[in-house]
Amino acid sequence: MRVRLLDATDDPEELICQGARNDYMSEWVAEQDFEEAMDGVEGDDVEEQKANFLAKLLKRGHYGPFEHPSATFAIEGMSRSCMAQLTRHRHASFDVQSMRYVAFDEVDPADVEDGEMVVTPPSATDPDWVGRNQKADDFDEEDVEKREEIFQRSVRQSVEDYQELLELGMPPEDARFVLPIGTEVNVVVTLNPRSLMHIADMRAAADAQWEIRDLTEQLLDLAAEWCPHTFDYYEAEMKHRKNRLAP
Ligand SMILES: Cc1cc2nc3c(=O)[nH]c(=O)nc-3n(C[C@H](O)[C@H](O)[C@H](O)COP(=O)(O)OP(=O)(O)OC[C@H]3O[C@@H](n4cnc5c(N)ncnc54)[C@H](O)[C@@H]3O)c2cc1C
Repeated sequence: MRVRLLDATDDPEELICQGARNDYMSEWVAEQDFEEAMDGVEGDDVEEQKANFLAKLLKRGHYGPFEHPSATFAIEGMSRSCMAQLTRHRHASFDVQSMRYVAFDEVDPADVEDGEMVVTPPSATDPDWVGRNQKADDFDEEDVEKREEIFQRSVRQSVEDYQELLELGMPPEDARFVLPIGTEVNVVVTLNPRSLMHIADMRAAADAQWEIRDLTEQLLDLAAEWCPHTFDYYEAEMKHRKNRLAP
Protein backbone atom coordinates (compact mmCIF):
# COMPACT_ATOMS: atom_id res chain seq x y z
CA MET A 1 0.00 0.00 0.00
CA ARG A 2 1.26 3.47 -0.83
CA VAL A 3 -0.01 6.74 0.64
CA ARG A 4 0.66 10.27 -0.62
CA LEU A 5 -0.49 13.70 0.45
CA LEU A 6 -2.52 14.99 -2.50
CA ASP A 7 -3.44 18.44 -1.24
CA ALA A 8 -3.76 20.25 2.08
CA THR A 9 -4.48 23.58 3.73
CA ASP A 10 -1.45 25.87 3.57
CA ASP A 11 -0.08 26.69 7.00
CA PRO A 12 -2.63 24.60 8.89
CA GLU A 13 -1.22 25.43 12.31
CA GLU A 14 -1.56 29.18 11.77
CA LEU A 15 -5.21 28.54 10.94
CA ILE A 16 -5.76 26.41 14.05
CA CYS A 17 -4.18 29.13 16.20
CA GLN A 18 -6.28 31.86 14.55
CA GLY A 19 -9.44 29.86 15.19
CA ALA A 20 -8.60 29.38 18.84
CA ARG A 21 -7.25 32.92 19.44
CA ASN A 22 -10.55 34.22 18.07
CA ASP A 23 -12.21 32.79 21.17
CA TYR A 24 -10.11 34.84 23.56
CA MET A 25 -9.87 38.33 22.06
CA SER A 26 -12.18 41.25 21.44
CA GLU A 27 -10.54 42.19 18.10
CA TRP A 28 -11.63 40.62 14.83
CA VAL A 29 -9.10 37.92 13.88
CA ALA A 30 -9.53 38.66 10.16
CA GLU A 31 -8.05 42.12 10.62
CA GLN A 32 -5.12 41.16 12.83
CA ASP A 33 -1.58 40.18 11.90
CA PHE A 34 -0.83 36.68 13.06
CA GLU A 35 1.93 38.03 15.33
CA GLU A 36 -0.61 40.37 16.97
CA ALA A 37 -3.11 37.57 17.38
CA MET A 38 -0.45 35.50 19.17
CA ASP A 39 0.54 38.36 21.45
CA GLY A 40 0.84 37.15 25.04
CA VAL A 41 1.45 33.50 24.13
CA GLU A 42 4.65 32.19 25.67
CA GLY A 43 7.60 31.70 23.30
CA ASP A 44 10.70 33.44 21.92
CA ASP A 45 9.40 33.61 18.36
CA VAL A 46 6.16 32.98 16.54
CA GLU A 47 7.06 29.34 15.73
CA GLU A 48 7.68 28.59 19.40
CA GLN A 49 4.47 30.41 20.31
CA LYS A 50 2.55 28.24 17.86
CA ALA A 51 4.09 25.03 19.29
CA ASN A 52 3.29 26.07 22.87
CA PHE A 53 -0.22 27.21 22.08
CA LEU A 54 -1.12 24.07 20.11
CA ALA A 55 0.27 21.86 22.89
CA LYS A 56 -1.81 23.81 25.42
CA LEU A 57 -4.98 23.32 23.36
CA LEU A 58 -4.38 19.58 23.04
CA LYS A 59 -3.51 19.25 26.72
CA ARG A 60 -6.70 21.04 27.75
CA GLY A 61 -8.85 19.04 25.33
CA HIS A 62 -9.78 22.10 23.26
CA TYR A 63 -10.01 20.10 20.02
CA GLY A 64 -12.47 22.19 17.97
CA PRO A 65 -9.84 24.44 16.30
CA PHE A 66 -8.14 21.31 14.94
CA GLU A 67 -11.12 20.84 12.64
CA HIS A 68 -10.39 23.94 10.50
CA PRO A 69 -7.57 22.69 8.23
CA SER A 70 -7.89 19.64 6.04
CA ALA A 71 -5.61 17.28 4.17
CA THR A 72 -6.39 14.99 1.26
CA PHE A 73 -4.50 11.72 0.95
CA ALA A 74 -4.34 9.28 -1.98
CA ILE A 75 -4.10 5.62 -0.97
CA GLU A 76 -3.05 3.02 -3.51
CA GLY A 77 -3.59 -0.70 -3.13
CA MET A 78 -5.40 -1.08 0.17
CA SER A 79 -7.57 -4.16 0.55
CA ARG A 80 -11.34 -3.79 0.43
CA SER A 81 -11.29 -5.21 3.95
CA CYS A 82 -9.13 -2.31 5.16
CA MET A 83 -11.23 0.16 3.20
CA ALA A 84 -14.35 -1.07 4.99
CA GLN A 85 -12.67 -0.26 8.32
CA LEU A 86 -11.47 3.18 7.27
CA THR A 87 -14.82 4.24 5.85
CA ARG A 88 -16.55 3.51 9.18
CA HIS A 89 -15.11 6.85 10.32
CA ARG A 90 -17.76 9.44 9.62
CA HIS A 91 -15.78 12.66 9.94
CA ALA A 92 -13.91 12.10 6.70
CA SER A 93 -14.73 12.37 2.99
CA PHE A 94 -14.00 9.55 0.59
CA ASP A 95 -13.68 8.66 -3.06
CA VAL A 96 -13.41 4.94 -3.70
CA GLN A 97 -12.29 3.34 -6.98
CA SER A 98 -15.32 1.73 -8.56
CA MET A 99 -15.58 -1.95 -9.44
CA ARG A 100 -18.52 -1.12 -11.70
CA TYR A 101 -16.49 1.14 -13.97
CA VAL A 102 -13.02 -0.38 -13.51
CA ALA A 103 -12.75 -4.02 -14.60
CA PHE A 104 -9.65 -6.03 -13.76
CA ASP A 105 -9.68 -7.73 -17.15
CA GLU A 106 -6.03 -7.05 -18.01
CA VAL A 107 -4.54 -8.66 -14.91
CA ASP A 108 -2.74 -11.97 -15.45
CA PRO A 109 -4.14 -14.44 -12.85
CA ALA A 110 -0.62 -15.92 -12.56
CA ASP A 111 0.57 -12.56 -11.18
CA VAL A 112 -2.22 -12.56 -8.59
CA GLU A 113 -0.40 -15.43 -6.87
CA ASP A 114 2.58 -13.08 -6.46
CA GLY A 115 0.61 -10.25 -4.89
CA GLU A 116 -0.86 -8.40 -7.87
CA MET A 117 -4.43 -7.13 -7.40
CA VAL A 118 -5.06 -8.93 -4.09
CA VAL A 119 -3.26 -8.02 -0.85
CA THR A 120 -1.33 -10.94 0.66
CA PRO A 121 -1.56 -10.85 4.46
CA PRO A 122 1.74 -11.54 6.26
CA SER A 123 0.22 -14.57 7.99
CA ALA A 124 -0.04 -16.30 4.60
CA THR A 125 3.74 -16.57 4.39
CA ASP A 126 5.38 -15.62 7.71
CA PRO A 127 5.64 -18.50 10.23
CA ASP A 128 6.42 -16.06 13.05
CA TRP A 129 3.36 -13.90 12.46
CA VAL A 130 0.84 -14.03 15.28
CA GLY A 131 -2.58 -12.58 14.55
CA ARG A 132 -5.69 -12.01 16.61
CA ASN A 133 -8.02 -14.95 17.23
CA GLN A 134 -5.59 -17.34 15.57
CA LYS A 135 -6.93 -20.88 16.06
CA ALA A 136 -3.75 -22.98 16.32
CA ASP A 137 -0.41 -22.10 17.86
CA ASP A 138 1.33 -25.44 17.30
CA PHE A 139 1.69 -25.21 13.53
CA ASP A 140 5.00 -25.93 11.77
CA GLU A 141 6.79 -24.75 8.60
CA GLU A 142 4.84 -27.28 6.54
CA ASP A 143 1.53 -25.75 7.70
CA VAL A 144 2.70 -22.30 6.66
CA GLU A 145 3.78 -23.57 3.24
CA LYS A 146 0.34 -25.12 2.88
CA ARG A 147 -1.29 -21.83 3.93
CA GLU A 148 0.61 -19.97 1.24
CA GLU A 149 -0.29 -22.57 -1.36
CA ILE A 150 -4.03 -22.45 -0.52
CA PHE A 151 -4.06 -18.65 -0.39
CA GLN A 152 -2.34 -18.33 -3.78
CA ARG A 153 -4.54 -20.97 -5.38
CA SER A 154 -7.70 -19.40 -4.03
CA VAL A 155 -7.00 -15.79 -5.12
CA ARG A 156 -5.80 -16.92 -8.55
CA GLN A 157 -8.94 -19.03 -9.04
CA SER A 158 -11.18 -16.10 -8.01
CA VAL A 159 -9.59 -13.81 -10.57
CA GLU A 160 -9.75 -16.48 -13.29
CA ASP A 161 -13.46 -17.00 -12.55
CA TYR A 162 -14.09 -13.24 -12.48
CA GLN A 163 -12.46 -12.74 -15.87
CA GLU A 164 -14.33 -15.70 -17.34
CA LEU A 165 -17.63 -14.25 -16.13
CA LEU A 166 -16.74 -10.92 -17.80
CA GLU A 167 -15.99 -12.75 -21.04
CA LEU A 168 -19.35 -14.54 -20.76
CA GLY A 169 -21.02 -11.12 -20.69
CA MET A 170 -21.59 -10.60 -16.99
CA PRO A 171 -21.33 -6.89 -16.05
CA PRO A 172 -18.36 -5.95 -13.83
CA GLU A 173 -20.77 -4.84 -11.08
CA ASP A 174 -21.97 -8.45 -10.77
CA ALA A 175 -18.86 -10.44 -11.74
CA ARG A 176 -17.02 -8.70 -8.86
CA PHE A 177 -19.06 -10.72 -6.38
CA VAL A 178 -16.61 -13.62 -6.75
CA LEU A 179 -13.53 -11.52 -5.96
CA PRO A 180 -11.89 -11.77 -2.54
CA ILE A 181 -12.22 -9.16 0.19
CA GLY A 182 -8.44 -8.67 -0.12
CA THR A 183 -8.87 -7.16 -3.61
CA GLU A 184 -6.98 -3.91 -3.90
CA VAL A 185 -8.70 -0.54 -4.15
CA ASN A 186 -7.48 3.04 -4.51
CA VAL A 187 -9.06 5.58 -2.18
CA VAL A 188 -8.88 9.35 -1.76
CA VAL A 189 -9.66 10.55 1.75
CA THR A 190 -9.92 14.04 3.21
CA LEU A 191 -9.49 14.50 6.96
CA ASN A 192 -8.97 17.25 9.46
CA PRO A 193 -6.29 16.90 12.17
CA ARG A 194 -8.84 16.15 14.88
CA SER A 195 -10.45 13.32 12.95
CA LEU A 196 -7.03 11.93 11.99
CA MET A 197 -5.96 11.91 15.65
CA HIS A 198 -9.21 10.15 16.56
CA ILE A 199 -8.71 7.55 13.82
CA ALA A 200 -5.13 7.05 15.05
CA ASP A 201 -6.37 6.59 18.63
CA MET A 202 -8.43 3.67 17.40
CA ARG A 203 -6.46 2.33 14.45
CA ALA A 204 -2.84 2.70 15.57
CA ALA A 205 -3.75 0.80 18.74
CA ALA A 206 -2.29 -2.62 19.42
CA ASP A 207 -5.65 -4.35 19.03
CA ALA A 208 -6.32 -2.87 15.57
CA GLN A 209 -5.78 -4.98 12.46
CA TRP A 210 -2.26 -4.93 10.91
CA GLU A 211 -3.19 -3.35 7.57
CA ILE A 212 -5.12 -0.39 8.96
CA ARG A 213 -2.34 0.11 11.54
CA ASP A 214 0.15 0.33 8.69
CA LEU A 215 -2.10 2.79 6.85
CA THR A 216 -2.56 4.90 10.00
CA GLU A 217 1.20 5.08 10.61
CA GLN A 218 1.74 6.25 7.03
CA LEU A 219 -0.99 8.89 7.43
CA LEU A 220 0.57 10.07 10.70
CA ASP A 221 4.03 10.37 9.10
CA LEU A 222 2.63 12.53 6.29
CA ALA A 223 0.55 14.55 8.75
CA ALA A 224 3.67 15.23 10.83
CA GLU A 225 5.26 16.89 7.79
CA TRP A 226 2.13 18.90 7.09
CA CYS A 227 1.13 19.89 10.61
CA PRO A 228 4.35 19.28 12.61
CA HIS A 229 3.76 20.75 16.08
CA THR A 230 0.35 19.08 16.37
CA PHE A 231 1.41 15.62 15.28
CA ASP A 232 4.74 15.75 17.14
CA TYR A 233 2.74 16.49 20.30
CA TYR A 234 0.27 13.74 19.42
CA GLU A 235 3.09 11.24 18.89
CA ALA A 236 4.89 12.16 22.12
CA GLU A 237 2.00 12.75 24.51
CA MET A 238 -1.23 11.29 23.21
CA LYS A 239 -0.66 8.27 20.98
CA HIS A 240 -1.56 4.87 22.43
CA ARG A 241 -3.60 6.37 25.23
CA LYS A 242 -7.25 5.51 25.44
CA ASN A 243 -9.24 7.41 22.81
CA ARG A 244 -9.60 10.95 24.17
CA LEU A 245 -10.60 12.99 21.14
CA ALA A 246 -14.18 11.86 21.08
CA PRO A 247 -15.16 11.61 24.73
C1 LIG B 1 -10.14 -2.83 17.18
C2 LIG B 1 -11.46 -2.50 16.55
C3 LIG B 1 -12.38 -3.50 16.32
C4 LIG B 1 -13.63 -3.20 15.76
N1 LIG B 1 -14.51 -4.21 15.54
C5 LIG B 1 -15.71 -3.96 14.99
C6 LIG B 1 -16.67 -4.99 14.71
O1 LIG B 1 -16.41 -6.15 14.99
N2 LIG B 1 -17.84 -4.66 14.14
C7 LIG B 1 -18.16 -3.36 13.83
O2 LIG B 1 -19.27 -3.11 13.31
N3 LIG B 1 -17.30 -2.37 14.04
C8 LIG B 1 -16.07 -2.62 14.61
N4 LIG B 1 -15.20 -1.60 14.82
C9 LIG B 1 -15.56 -0.26 14.37
C10 LIG B 1 -15.98 0.67 15.53
O3 LIG B 1 -17.05 0.14 16.26
C11 LIG B 1 -16.41 2.06 14.98
O4 LIG B 1 -17.60 1.96 14.24
C12 LIG B 1 -15.38 2.67 14.08
O5 LIG B 1 -14.10 2.53 14.60
C13 LIG B 1 -15.72 4.17 13.89
O6 LIG B 1 -15.25 4.89 15.01
P1 LIG B 1 -16.18 5.83 15.92
O7 LIG B 1 -17.33 5.05 16.46
O8 LIG B 1 -15.31 6.50 16.90
O9 LIG B 1 -16.83 6.85 14.91
P2 LIG B 1 -16.33 8.04 13.99
O10 LIG B 1 -17.20 7.99 12.80
O11 LIG B 1 -14.85 7.98 13.77
O12 LIG B 1 -16.75 9.31 14.79
C14 LIG B 1 -15.92 9.95 15.76
C15 LIG B 1 -16.71 10.21 17.01
O13 LIG B 1 -17.82 11.05 16.71
C16 LIG B 1 -18.92 10.69 17.54
N5 LIG B 1 -20.03 10.26 16.69
C17 LIG B 1 -19.99 10.08 15.34
N6 LIG B 1 -21.19 9.72 14.87
C18 LIG B 1 -22.02 9.64 15.94
C19 LIG B 1 -23.38 9.31 16.11
N7 LIG B 1 -24.17 8.98 15.09
N8 LIG B 1 -23.91 9.36 17.34
C20 LIG B 1 -23.13 9.70 18.40
N9 LIG B 1 -21.82 10.01 18.33
C21 LIG B 1 -21.28 9.98 17.11
C22 LIG B 1 -18.44 9.57 18.45
O14 LIG B 1 -17.99 10.16 19.66
C23 LIG B 1 -17.29 8.97 17.69
O15 LIG B 1 -16.34 8.31 18.50
C24 LIG B 1 -13.95 -1.87 15.40
C25 LIG B 1 -13.01 -0.87 15.61
C26 LIG B 1 -11.78 -1.16 16.18
C27 LIG B 1 -10.79 -0.04 16.39
